[in-house]
Amino acid sequence: MQAESYPSNTAPRLFKPGSTEVNEISAEINNLSACTHELTMVIGGKKIIGGGKRIAMPMPHHKSQNYAFVTLPSKNQIEQAVENSLSASREWAETSIEHRAAIFSKVADLIEFKYRDRLVAATMIGQSKTVFQADADAASGTIDALRFNSKFALDLYKIQPPDNQKSNIELDYRPLEGFVYAITPFNFTLTSAILSTVPALMGNVVIWKPSMTAMLPAQILIDIFQEAGLPDGVINLVPGYGPEVSEVLLNSKYLAGIYFTGSTGVFRQLWKEVANNLDNYRSFPRLVGETGGKGFVIAHSTANPDTLISALIRSAFEYQGQKCSACSRAYISQSLWDKISEKLIKAIGSLAIGNVADFKNFMSAVIDQNSFDRLVDALEAIKQDPEIEILTGANTNGDSGYFVEPTLLLCKNPNNRIFHKEYFGPILAIHVFPDNEYETILELVDSTSDYALTGSVFAEDEKIIETSLQRLRNCAGSLNVNDKPTGVVMGKHPFGGSRASGTNDKSGWQQSLLRWTSPRVIKRAANTTVEIIHPHQL
Ligand code: NAD
Repeated sequence: MQAESYPSNTAPRLFKPGSTEVNEISAEINNLSACTHELTMVIGGKKIIGGGKRIAMPMPHHKSQNYAFVTLPSKNQIEQAVENSLSASREWAETSIEHRAAIFSKVADLIEFKYRDRLVAATMIGQSKTVFQADADAASGTIDALRFNSKFALDLYKIQPPDNQKSNIELDYRPLEGFVYAITPFNFTLTSAILSTVPALMGNVVIWKPSMTAMLPAQILIDIFQEAGLPDGVINLVPGYGPEVSEVLLNSKYLAGIYFTGSTGVFRQLWKEVANNLDNYRSFPRLVGETGGKGFVIAHSTANPDTLISALIRSAFEYQGQKCSACSRAYISQSLWDKISEKLIKAIGSLAIGNVADFKNFMSAVIDQNSFDRLVDALEAIKQDPEIEILTGANTNGDSGYFVEPTLLLCKNPNNRIFHKEYFGPILAIHVFPDNEYETILELVDSTSDYALTGSVFAEDEKIIETSLQRLRNCAGSLNVNDKPTGVVMGKHPFGGSRASGTNDKSGWQQSLLRWTSPRVIKRAANTTVEIIHPHQL
């Protein structure tokens, strides 16, 4: 397939002061913040008020203001979601891939030309993303993912066994039998869009449980799916914290798969529950999980100091360090550290933090009270640890929102927990090593953390880069050379990790689509035979 036939990537917007973009997105933020949204389940295309508790959702950066209420579903309503999905499955499986791909391409068009600001503003208000981060996630990344996945699916269906003169063998890319349970995290609207739509694109019906703190963009997305022509019931939206929804869905005989992104612990728990229930399922459920990370940077003495400073700051502190790919540990050679330390500490100390509606801020609040409390406790333990030197940050302020300062730590012991624990906050741990011990550091990085999602090597020496790529083979599903470990361009940069970081099915790539199909082989004989005995019997 020629590269030209792929969609072009959507340009991210820069939101320069005084631009029309700034005025438009600010108006949308005001518009969305002016009311409190009632967020519901959506079954069979209908919004249904849940029979359970009504939960207030505060803005993380302005916690006295609730932007939404989410009403949880009753057990009976979750069961209805399963029944409704199954009743939509036959017709959807019989819908052509061209038609399905056209619907999701239309979703991309609707986001780009009609709902871009709405989805971006919702991601800012509810998830506390700065405008650039929100646009890259909820707009350009999401639009690209939808277009590229549609194209990948059409290409996949064309992959067929080689022609055989005597028979015509065709691969029928069937969906799985039953429903796919899509479980999405708070931190990327893009992930919500991918996990809910990819199995549906492949002909499956989906029950989608978004994170409670990302329900506003989820509700906007489901409305857009409907407007694009997605038949009712193909994607049903069921809000909840997790266990109560899983209690029903994991016990259904028709669970065909789980498409999960979130923490490693939750995914392990889901896997165990599925294993315990295996005798009750109709098929072996497909389990796909993109989970935690402990992104690393290794900087050789030949690395460019200014490139390294920019990469460390952006990858560790953008979106408050709440990216699975965030850099949270860096190993820096002594001579390079001597060159950058002062400038790095000063630059981190001057990062502006506050409300996302003020575009001057580089960072905003962490997602919720639980996350804030967890980080307060972690920083308290760090302050008590004699092995750790705090170079900047480590203060928190929970008065108006859940604010945590960008924190830079130095530690001589590379086995200290700050080098292997995922904090999921703005905390970067540095270990400085003698220039002549680079290879020892490669071994150390390989053995320090359970995770293997993202990492970066900074060096100008080609031989060093080659050695690093070899030694770090299993340390990251996504390894960058002279670039930060965060940030992917959808369609061009498949993403996923191994070890405790997940099943590495490479979201945003054709490989991930394969998990949501169960191909059937159809053989149509061209030359039928009437013989019974074989030539060797003559
Ligand atoms: P989380 O694990 O707390 O929650 C993820 C989702 O799982 C949420 O929707 C939550 O409600 C749900 N959940 C929790 N318990 C459940 C249960 N028993 N049954 C069903 N669903 C359940 O994670 P989070 O705080 O939303 O996100 C942060 C985590 O996600 C971090 O560990 C981060 O590294 C990871 N993450 C990984 C990737 C990746 O691509 N590898 C991307 C984004 C986030």
